[in-house]
Amino acid sequence: MITFLDLKKLNGVYAAQLREACARVIESGWYIGGQELAAFEQEFAAYCQAEHCVGVANGLDALTLTLRAWKELGLLREGDEVIVPANTYIASVLAITENRLIPVLVEPDAGTYNLSGAGVQAALTERTKAVVAVHLYGQMAEMPAIMDLAKANGLLVLEDAAQAHGASIEGRKAGTWGHAAGFSFYPGKNLGALGDAGAMVTHDAQLAKMVRGLGNYGSYRKYENAFQGVNSRLDEIQAAMLRVKLEHLDQEIAARRQVADSYLQGIDNPLIQLPQVTAGEAHVWHLFVVRCERRDELQRFLQEQGVQTLIHYPIPPHKQQAYAEYAALTLPLTEVIHEQVLSLPISPVMSEDDVKAVICAVNAFS
Ligand SMILES: *Cc1c(COP(=O)(O)O)cnc(C)c1O
Repeated sequence: MITFLDLKKLNGVYAAQLREACARVIESGWYIGGQELAAFEQEFAAYCQAEHCVGVANGLDALTLTLRAWKELGLLREGDEVIVPANTYIASVLAITENRLIPVLVEPDAGTYNLSGAGVQAALTERTKAVVAVHLYGQMAEMPAIMDLAKANGLLVLEDAAQAHGASIEGRKAGTWGHAAGFSFYPGKNLGALGDAGAMVTHDAQLAKMVRGLGNYGSYRKYENAFQGVNSRLDEIQAAMLRVKLEHLDQEIAARRQVADSYLQGIDNPLIQLPQVTAGEAHVWHLFVVRCERRDELQRFLQEQGVQTLIHYPIPPHKQQAYAEYAALTLPLTEVIHEQVLSLPISPVMSEDDVKAVICAVNAFS
């Protein structure tokens, strides 16, 4: 069986380094808000070429707390409209509604399935105050066009970079195009911890300070609370694990690109639509997503051939029970994408034989 993502194998490659880092934290006697976090924040900011990085508990918190910080700073107000792609993981939308902002769900670009400048333009109203630009599947949204529109219309841009660590356009990394970005280090992400973790990245010192305070009970000095904050912290053990993994991230991205290139060259089946790739470095292949009108049959067939696949995602946010108020929206492209997409196995630890076997199985589907 070719598993979708073998995390044991992936982390096993670094087992000795991870154990050593873990032992270092255990022996330090300091488990929250110490040297490992400070070092990881510095290293990840440097990796992204951003000025500030603030570790938080997970990717959703990174997005939610950034929008909350903009509210506390007086830049957003309850009821402001925030443009977000309809084709995304629900976290991108939850961060908006949690802050009592209004999500304006926008159809994706038909080729990349991502948010485009044209999509943002079409959704603008005088109440639009921000955009959450999601880099879905590891491919960056059309950031140059989105930032031009943001500038012209005075919009804040938050990148949801949970799937796109290390991607870049014109040499500028994901997380540095917008005014801020949220990253997730969920174990299955391209930069994954061994538990939950996340971070926000920005050039804005005031914003970074606000997010750090909000994630620490709204406190800058122990037992003094400036805001009604939350507890959202990236602990020392996970920071230490991430420092090990970050060293190898570029190598892993290169390995993912190799698998993707093999699929793009090897898969040849009129029933299967391959992903559209925009620019060279804009895609870090968190997921390799194909489209097929008979998706469920294809998934069953691949399972029988020993290839495990997943669906990202089977139900769009506006069709979730949690968002019954948006159920009447018509977003036909988003809905058809959810009916037809299938994610093939992709990871830096797949063998060449595994890749060949996946290609053969996909090509044999009829
Ligand atoms: C994973 C993910 C998140 C949320 O990250 P968590 O760490 O699971 O909270 C947000 N947005 C997107 C696009 C994601 O893939």
